[in-house]
Amino acid sequence: MATPGKIDIKSLQLSDIETRVQEFHEPLYRARQLAEWLYQKRARSFDEMTDLPKQFRVRLAQEFSFGQIEIVRVLGSRDTTRKFLFRLSDASLIESVLIPASPALYGSRSDRRTICASTQVGCAYGCKFCASGLEGFSRNLQPNEIVDQIIAVARETGEKIDNIVFMGMGEPLANFENVMRAIRIINAPWGIGTGARHITLSTSGLAPQIRKLADEPLQVRLAISLHGSTDAVRNQIMPINRRYNLETLVAACDYYVKQKKQRLTFEYILIATVNDTPDQARELGRIARRLGAKVNLIPYNTVHGLPWSRPSPEQQRQFLSILRASGIPATLRREKGHDIDAACGQLRLQTKRELETATL
Ligand code: SF4
Repeated sequence: MATPGKIDIKSLQLSDIETRVQEFHEPLYRARQLAEWLYQKRARSFDEMTDLPKQFRVRLAQEFSFGQIEIVRVLGSRDTTRKFLFRLSDASLIESVLIPASPALYGSRSDRRTICASTQVGCAYGCKFCASGLEGFSRNLQPNEIVDQIIAVARETGEKIDNIVFMGMGEPLANFENVMRAIRIINAPWGIGTGARHITLSTSGLAPQIRKLADEPLQVRLAISLHGSTDAVRNQIMPINRRYNLETLVAACDYYVKQKKQRLTFEYILIATVNDTPDQARELGRIARRLGAKVNLIPYNTVHGLPWSRPSPEQQRQFLSILRASGIPATLRREKGHDIDAACGQLRLQTKRELETATL
C-alpha cells in the first residue's frame, strides 16, 4: 500500500536513491542493488531484498512507501491482445493493454510486444468517441503507478515488453512531470532499460506541452491523436481543438519535428460519417506531407453508450488509398482486441458499472 505523506520508492531516480543511501551511511553501491531489486528482480517488498542489510531495509520502509498495483481482471489470451484492469492503492481503477505484434503501429517485428499504458485516472479532455473521458477526470498517476503497470504486466505474463505507448487512459502531456519522471525510470539502464525510441507518447493536441517535450533531451517518439483534419471536424469530436486549433497544433508539431529531427505519427480513428470522407483524407494528406508525418488509421471500436461506428471496409480502404496516392506512409491497423473492448477506458468503465450495480 502507498502511505500518505511518503514518497514511493519507484518514483525516485537513481541519483535520488544514491543521495538517500549516503544519508543512511550505506555504501553507494547499495543504490544500484536496490534498483536491481525494484526493476530487474521486480521485488514486491523491501523484505524480499535479502542481500540488503536488515537495518537498511527497515530504514527504507520507514522512509518510503512501496506501492503495489493489483491486477483485478485480465481479458484476452496469450496470442491476442490482453487487457489488464488494475486497482490502485486508493481503489482507483486503471487499464493497460498488451498488444502482440503490431506492425501497423510501429513497423516492428512480429514477435514484439507493445504495452499501452495509462497516465491518469479518467481524463479531462472529453473526446466524444472515447470511453476514458466518459466519467471525467479523477487524478494524475504518480510516476510509480505508471512504472508499475509495465512491471506488473511483465511479471504476470512472463514476457519481455519491447514497446511502451502512452495511449491508455488519460492525456499524458497533461501529467507532464510525472510522466517524464516515469519515462526516465523506464528508459534508464538501471531501471527497466527500454530504449527511448521504443517509448511513444501520444497527445490529443496540447500544443504548449508539445513544444516543452521538444525541448526535453529524451528522444521518445510522439504520436498526435488527430482524428480530424479540419477545425470543423476536430471541434465536433475533440474539445481540446477549441483551445488549440489545428493551426496552433501544426505549428507546435513543426517545432517538435525541427528540434527532434524525428518523424511524427498521426493517429486517426476512422468514424463513419464523421471524419471518413475523401475530403478529410486529402486534407490529412496535406498536413502529413507538410510535417513529413506518417499516418496510422484505426477503425473505430464501438463503445457501449456512444453513438459512433466504424466505416465499412471499403470506405476504410478508400481513405487509405487517397493518403497513399499523395505519398504519405499510411497504414490501416489490423483488427486487434475489438472482441474484448480494447478501446481505451472500456474495461474500467464496464467494471466500475458492474461494481456500482452490485452495490445498489
Ligand atoms: S482520447 Fe485520450 S485525450 Fe481524448 S478523452 Fe480519451 S483518453 Fe482523454
